[in-house]
Amino acid sequence: MHTHLPPLPRGTGVGPDEPEPARRACLTAILRMSGLRPTRQRLDLADRLLGRDRHVTAEQLYCEASGSGHGLSLATVYNTLRQFQGAGLVRELAFEGMRSVFDTDTSRHHHFYLADEPRILDIPADCLAVSGLPGVPDGYEIDRVEVVVRLRRKAG
Ligand SMILES: [Zn+2]
Repeated sequence: MHTHLPPLPRGTGVGPDEPEPARRACLTAILRMSGLRPTRQRLDLADRLLGRDRHVTAEQLYCEASGSGHGLSLATVYNTLRQFQGAGLVRELAFEGMRSVFDTDTSRHHHFYLADEPRILDIPADCLAVSGLPGVPDGYEIDRVEVVVRLRRKAG
């Protein structure tokens, strides 16, 4: 007698590269609340980013995700990151001499930039006080101030 196992239903979160079901349900809800349809590709990228403390470039994410078999292109990764940014799920940071970095921590904080490596480390907002801000042009107000502290290795 042959026993035929029913095929696994799609989208149950079962599989080697799938988030576990509870996390998957959570990510799906977050994407929906953000007005984004929870496609496999978005879920895959959301799983690598949301709730994790990361600073990643699109290229890094693409390299990670290209092994997952979801057929992600670098352009898709970029587009998805921009959508996530538009929805307030990640924040894009720009550092001189470095490709755009996406920060999964969207709260106000500052950064160390280790330009030689290159690497980015968080500085909690309350660890750095900014004073003596200049007056701003008429009709404008300061949205936020983000400080980048550039570090280099000590000589010797
Ligand atoms: Zn950060």
